[in-house]
Amino acid sequence: MNDYRRMIDRLARSNHAIALTGAGISVESGIPDFRSLGGLWSRYHPIEYGHIDSFRSNPAKVWKMLLEMDALLSRADPNPAHFALAKLEALGIIRAVITQNVDSLHQRAGSKRVIEFHGHNRSLRCESCNLRYPREKISLSVTPPACRCGGPLRPEIVFFGEQIPTIAFTEAMSAADSCDFLMVIGTSAAVAPASQIPLVAKNRGAFVLEINPTPSELRKEMVDFRIAQSAGTALPEIVTLIGVNNYE
Ligand SMILES: [Zn+2]
Repeated sequence: MNDYRRMIDRLARSNHAIALTGAGISVESGIPDFRSLGGLWSRYHPIEYGHIDSFRSNPAKVWKMLLEMDALLSRADPNPAHFALAKLEALGIIRAVITQNVDSLHQRAGSKRVIEFHGHNRSLRCESCNLRYPREKISLSVTPPACRCGGPLRPEIVFFGEQIPTIAFTEAMSAADSCDFLMVIGTSAAVAPASQIPLVAKNRGAFVLEINPTPSELRKEMVDFRIAQSAGTALPEIVTLIGVNNYE
């Protein structure tokens, strides 16, 4: 058995596999990594447009960027990588997907247990009174959209300068601390606190598989197997080898 087959075998026999996903998994859905060339942060200064203090002092200005993000996210559809993860969950192999993305593409592909580290785009919340509105109920023709109390609405995403939602953080750490197989997909997992997930998983003896087309900043000793391919290529192949090929 070669190393790749051994990895597949280990995944198939795992009792509690989880995945940690980042921007890279949604690139094939047409959402450029915000940090990449052509990504949002190449045109909008991340602090000037992405920090919560900037939103509070000038919501109309920050909404220029948010409108673009909203258009980008609403145009995108799940790709074969999202469907493959949902299939692995349906097969009882993947127990949870921890994502740093706010695009809801895992849920739209059929994943049931998704832990959203950085919030999501499905609702807007009033910055003044915390009232929530489903995204589809709010017209963005006038920005910033306002709550009935007059306060500015913001997407339910985590801005720079804000904490990871406590429930998401606790659930992610508990998933990492009970997993026996971790897939790190489309993320360098370099930035804290997401970087703690591979660390916690590795410390408890989990097998760590990294799927990134280019080498990430994950330390070599943290990774048991690397696949240098896009997730949309690598994950469907894994599903096929695990014995099911009708993942769509
Ligand atoms: Zn309000």
